[in-house]
Amino acid sequence: MGKIEDLQTINGEGYQLSRLEHVLATARANSVWPLPFATSCCGIEYMATMGSNYDLARFGMERMSFSPRQADLLIVAGTISKKLGPILKKVYEQMAEPKWVLSVGACASSGGIFDTYSVLQGIDRIIPVDVYVPGCPPRPEQIIDGIIRIHELVKNEPLRRRYSEEYKHLLHDHNIETNE
Ligand code: SF4
Repeated sequence: MGKIEDLQTINGEGYQLSRLEHVLATARANSVWPLPFATSCCGIEYMATMGSNYDLARFGMERMSFSPRQADLLIVAGTISKKLGPILKKVYEQMAEPKWVLSVGACASSGGIFDTYSVLQGIDRIIPVDVYVPGCPPRPEQIIDGIIRIHELVKNEPLRRRYSEEYKHLLHDHNIETNE
């Protein structure tokens, strides 16, 4: 039998021990509620990802949230104009902690082919991004790969991360208001 610090769970006859942090993280990772912020062609790929062929329900993620207050994963798929930027930021701010962001496709991640005065050159200029999915557009398999990487982050995130100075600085760097 190993030490509990080394293992995620310890199984014995009639009992199973684990750390509260691990139990909460596992529950969170298997019940992510996504908020799709889809503006253009990458959004269509995301719709395909939700469909029966790719079946996001396998990950406990079939429940889309179109209210930021009942979502913990913001999926930004498509071109974001500078005019739309403040709205995206407001949606992010309205989501409760803990929350994660998946940037789907070249446009959301970097402006893509639209190197113009009107297009935001990457959503990470206004909100923190956890995982970037490359491609124009990315295939549903790539989006699923990004989602699995988000799950890994959720599973391995320490409970206190959101209270850390590093996290506060991250929000401060993006001019995100906190409730403190
Ligand atoms: S990355 Fe390509 S496919 Fe995705 S929104 Fe931009 S132009 Fe469309």
